[in-house]
Amino acid sequence: MTENRYDVIIIGTGAGGGTLAYHLAPSGKRILILERGDYVPREKANWDPQVVNVDAHYNTKESWRDKDGRDLHPHTNYYVGGNTKFYGAALFRLRKADFGEMRHHGGISPAWPISYEDLEPYYTQAEDLYQVHGNRGEDPTEPPANSPYPWPAVSHEPRIQQLSDDFARSGLKPFHVPVGVMLDEKNPHNSRCIRCNTCDGFACLVGAKSDAQVVCIDEAIKHSNVTLLTNSLVKRLDTDPTGREVKSVVVERNGSSETYSADVVVVSCGAINSAALLLRSANDKHPRGLANSSDIVGRHYMGHTNSVMMAISKCPNPTIFQKTLEVNDFYFGSKDFEYPMGHISFVGKLDAITLKAGAPAIAPNFTLELMAKHSLDFWLTSEDLPDPNNRVTIGRDGKIVLTYTPNNLEAHERLQGKLKQAMKQTNCAIHGHECHQGLFSRNLYVGQRIPLAGVAHQNGTIRFGKDPKTSVLDPNCKAHDLDNLYVVDGSFFPSSAAVNPALTIMANALRVGDHLMKRLGVFEPEYKRNPQQEQELAVSR
Ligand SMILES: Cc1cc2nc3c(=O)[nH]c(=O)nc-3n(C[C@H](O)[C@H](O)[C@H](O)COP(=O)(O)OP(=O)(O)OC[C@H]3O[C@@H](n4cnc5c(N)ncnc54)[C@H](O)[C@@H]3O)c2cc1C
Ligand code: SF4
Repeated sequence: MTENRYDVIIIGTGAGGGTLAYHLAPSGKRILILERGDYVPREKANWDPQVVNVDAHYNTKESWRDKDGRDLHPHTNYYVGGNTKFYGAALFRLRKADFGEMRHHGGISPAWPISYEDLEPYYTQAEDLYQVHGNRGEDPTEPPANSPYPWPAVSHEPRIQQLSDDFARSGLKPFHVPVGVMLDEKNPHNSRCIRCNTCDGFACLVGAKSDAQVVCIDEAIKHSNVTLLTNSLVKRLDTDPTGREVKSVVVERNGSSETYSADVVVVSCGAINSAALLLRSANDKHPRGLANSSDIVGRHYMGHTNSVMMAISKCPNPTIFQKTLEVNDFYFGSKDFEYPMGHISFVGKLDAITLKAGAPAIAPNFTLELMAKHSLDFWLTSEDLPDPNNRVTIGRDGKIVLTYTPNNLEAHERLQGKLKQAMKQTNCAIHGHECHQGLFSRNLYVGQRIPLAGVAHQNGTIRFGKDPKTSVLDPNCKAHDLDNLYVVDGSFFPSSAAVNPALTIMANALRVGDHLMKRLGVFEPEYKRNPQQEQELAVSR
């Protein structure tokens, strides 16, 4: 065996790649993890809204193009842990019905080739691994689960509890967001998480967010059979003469080109970069791009229709950790709109510095500072539908081109309308119904939606399915066209559902991990938490 030969190569260390690396690490197989980024430097700036939100210091400086050839500066991050370093850690299961075909106002959301039941055990494992805090049974659309959350839900602070009570009085069923932070509210002096106001969108300075670096990669590389190479950009995958096997992984590292090979190659670069890598790896046997006989690679890009709505109240909102409340009552529709609308949740508490970067329309009699002090900052997500024309391609200059026309927008407008209605019904003890001053879009985006550069929820570009003509991957996430190529990031989604994607990516990586262990002839190790997690779990129960 040469030095550059491995049993498994995993490209990317985010929700998909990081989780898979963790799962395979105890197997004893020689595993190489290739990550284009470095570790997020631990520095006070990690928690500085000016540096993070205004200067976009940690975002990639790479530029892509939109369909009209204009420069696009994607809000995405290349680091060990991928985008989970910066995510809000809201870790949701898809709804059971999301796995079937569903009719939306804007068209059909297609069925998945696996059922909810196939993924359920892996959701449970992923929730344990990422230490999800939640209360089973509160969410009216929650799918059946075989065990409770490993940790109790993160409690609401008083202003959010007040809103939750208001919503409940008006007939809604607000519930606690399942969230992956290492908060121990019963033992605050021992809690790794200090419940701060710079979580969603920020890297955690104290390593207390359950991200793929802290939870998975740091653990995986403790195994001597696992090697992590950072600052290692995979440029292309070359096949053997038959075209059925990835023969070499070509990497740019320290300014030079290196080549690695493995029995199994797993791509997990995020939905946009994974598609770009396959397209850039076109060769004689794969003229349209690797694994692309179907011409599906890069197509069906989805990223959800998201918007941030600020509800301004006369009552201040001194909440520190705001992302605790969620409303799913409109997920599948309502009496007056029988199509799915999506979910209403929160972003981290907005501050005046962050608001200056994308100033909302100012509420009458409010300054930006006052608005930030009085706002409830909602995050609304609706499903966007897979459209083959919404796609990732590579431009003549080699840059990624992202073509996207939003769809199913009526669902999102209805959802915004539902929030408006719900806020009007709030009734505080001091100001009554007059407390609510109105809803304002966080940014003056056209149509009040997050713009194209907001690729946080990217998925769908290398969909899995049973039919090689209409999908790139088989149900085990192996490329139909190749024998040793797998993809485990968000690109396998055939539909985007309307909950945050990361837990489904993690659970699927564990599922594919089990398949790979069988393929590699490894006895499946019993799923294990590390000793510290075991101890923390015992205390919390
Ligand atoms: C601000 C923010 C908040 C979010 N909040 C939530 C949330 O609350 N809940 C939720 O579920 N989701 C959230 N998300 C989305 C979530 O982070 C992603 O869904 C998830 O990280 C995607 O996992 P992935 O494995 O597909 O890709 P990523 O996590 O993006 O990982 C891809 C990795 O591949 C590396 N890479 C890319 N190209 C190459 C290459 N050519 N060679 C080598 N390495 C490469 C990248 O550097 C990266 O490390 C949020 C995202 C952002 C940005
Ligand atoms: S809330 Fe907790 S997990 Fe999030 S950044 Fe702060 S300390 Fe870290």
